[in-house]
Amino acid sequence: MPEMNTSKVLNGKISNIQHFSIHDGPGVRTTVFFYGCPLRCKWCANPETWFDFEALKMAEASDCLAKEPLRPVLYTVDELVDQLMSQIIYFRNTDGGVTFSGGEATCQPVFLEAVASQLYERGIHMTIETCGVFDWRKLSKTMSMMDLIYYDLKHMSPQQHKIFCGRQNTVILENLIHLSQLGKELVVRLPFIHPVNDMPENIEAMADFIIKNEIKCSVELLPYHRFGEGKYEKLGLPKPSPCFKAPTTAILQKTINYFERRNITCFMDYSDGHPAAQMVK
Ligand code: SF4
Repeated sequence: MPEMNTSKVLNGKISNIQHFSIHDGPGVRTTVFFYGCPLRCKWCANPETWFDFEALKMAEASDCLAKEPLRPVLYTVDELVDQLMSQIIYFRNTDGGVTFSGGEATCQPVFLEAVASQLYERGIHMTIETCGVFDWRKLSKTMSMMDLIYYDLKHMSPQQHKIFCGRQNTVILENLIHLSQLGKELVVRLPFIHPVNDMPENIEAMADFIIKNEIKCSVELLPYHRFGEGKYEKLGLPKPSPCFKAPTTAILQKTINYFERRNITCFMDYSDGHPAAQMVK
């Protein structure tokens, strides 16, 4: 029986494709937002990626949702790769590439691997932003094709992680150790939110874990923002708690200094115009 060409029939659910992105890795990038996420972070900026595809279609049909393009679009592997390769001139001229984001790209492991394999063969720089909740056996090959990995570590306490993100952090910590053994450029990202995870004991536990497991990484602080809140209204969801805030300038600076004292490079992206980042500059 002839082998089926999966690149033409395998579909991925994509919530958005953003060209000319400059905050998701080096150079000019195209960021692909995958649909689906195993977590439910109470501050999520992309809640449209949470919904079951069919349920979302039904809700739209019954006018429960505004007619905004919150639904995913289906792409075959070839369609997505063609669209990404159309930007090659920008990738080549700026040392940029493709960033897989979401939602959580690893929720569609077969599709992700198929797309990544094609880009890898073409020598495209690839970055993934992941929450770390995935089956290592299904994703190790894909991860080994990445050039840069952004890895979210939202809370070191399993109980607090469950309260704020819907699941404990056990698999996230295990996968971080696996990933660090690949020897890829690794940035551990801390979505930094008062009063969720900006307390000294959480920061100390994070540094302890990185050092104890000899994880070669830098740490990026992402001070809380409310950019995604409009989507909650459109989806009929309650907005994130008004108690969530970016940590104070003093805490941001203290945290950077603390990681540096423990020989872990810690930084914030000052170019994204976030007021909290500007204050610490
Ligand atoms: S991991 Fe990211 S996309 Fe998923 S719920 Fe948390 S913030 Fe949202």
